[in-house]
Amino acid sequence: MSDLRDLYQEVIFDHNRNPRNFGRLEGATHRAEGFNPLCGDQLTLYLKVGEDGRIEDVAFEGKGCAISTASASLLTESVKGRTLEEAERLFRGFHAMIMDEPAGEPVELGKLEVLAGVKEFPARVKCATLAWHTLHAAIEGQEQVSTE
Ligand code: ZN
Repeated sequence: MSDLRDLYQEVIFDHNRNPRNFGRLEGATHRAEGFNPLCGDQLTLYLKVGEDGRIEDVAFEGKGCAISTASASLLTESVKGRTLEEAERLFRGFHAMIMDEPAGEPVELGKLEVLAGVKEFPARVKCATLAWHTLHAAIEGQEQVSTE
């Protein structure tokens, strides 16, 4: 178990040091800004959604703690190529995992499970979920979202 935990931490460190899909996205169809005043995390999430409702491209920029940056980076890898509906299902599944609540439906979280340990640190939960709330806001057409 501790080996697994080390591996998870290594993935989080890696995504923080070298965030994937970082930067502004030209031609974005959806965009939202998210803030977590408790920690000072802020990010802007961009989506480029095709006519078939699939996320063709996704990117984020901003600054925040290691957990928020790694979570946003993992989010972009997880939702690229998915439909908005699938992305929302991932959001619900991820939220249930982090809040340690039963998921309403089975969701295959894949690599996102590296963040499961965050549920043991309630103060960091909002860091881990910020990018997901921002994704949800972007899909809903809201321009800004705050965790408070
Ligand atoms: Zn944070």
